[in-house]
Amino acid sequence: MASSAYDADPVALLKVLLATVEADIIPLTSKGVSSGSKLFGAAILSKAGLVPLTVSTNNEVASPLLHGEINCIQQFFAQTSFPDPLDASKPASSQRPNPRDCVFLATHEPCSLCLSGITWSGFDNFFYLFTYEDSRDLFSIPYDIEILQEVFRVPAVLTSSGSGETDGEDLEARQLYNRRNKFFTARSFEDLVREISEKRGGVEATKWSDEVKRVKALYNELSDTYQKGIKGGTESASFWK
Ligand SMILES: [Zn+2]
Repeated sequence: MASSAYDADPVALLKVLLATVEADIIPLTSKGVSSGSKLFGAAILSKAGLVPLTVSTNNEVASPLLHGEINCIQQFFAQTSFPDPLDASKPASSQRPNPRDCVFLATHEPCSLCLSGITWSGFDNFFYLFTYEDSRDLFSIPYDIEILQEVFRVPAVLTSSGSGETDGEDLEARQLYNRRNKFFTARSFEDLVREISEKRGGVEATKWSDEVKRVKALYNELSDTYQKGIKGGTESASFWK
């Protein structure tokens, strides 16, 4: 897509992104905030002609998961009519563009939920107007930073060369997120079995360990069914199969 409007000219891109925020997102957000939802909005545009395809805003009055970006992604996959990706004045089509052929616009730097949502949906880019620091300092919404710090910023594991001095960080040794943090404590079933072992002893723990294995094994058949279906060409909206 080297010839698409998306990567042809940053000025044209910025102009369209700003116009989309102003003309399409803000009117929706204006209604959303008056009903009690946060002021985060999003849009999906075509890379080919920078045509807005889907526009959305936060709807946490209905559900705490309906962040502007997630709401926009949901709408994009529920939508049955899409503007022509090159020219909005042409007739609409029922053909949903591939996320790889789209530009993702978020009014505010996406939170951890939305970063994951964008990734899982297959969009390969996003642009944002306000940073995390803006959300915290201008809008009194510090949770993007707090959740990333508390849940995802894992302490560094330093490697030592043997002389007692640290010589770098072992990134692979870092956990991917903090299972214990200010917001939650996450434990695997295996962790619970370890707790049982400490509190009730090995016999009881072995019993429950076997029970965990038995229930895990029930998923083998489900997995086979899914993998066969995917290989057999079952339709799915999922990008990462
Ligand atoms: Zn979010």
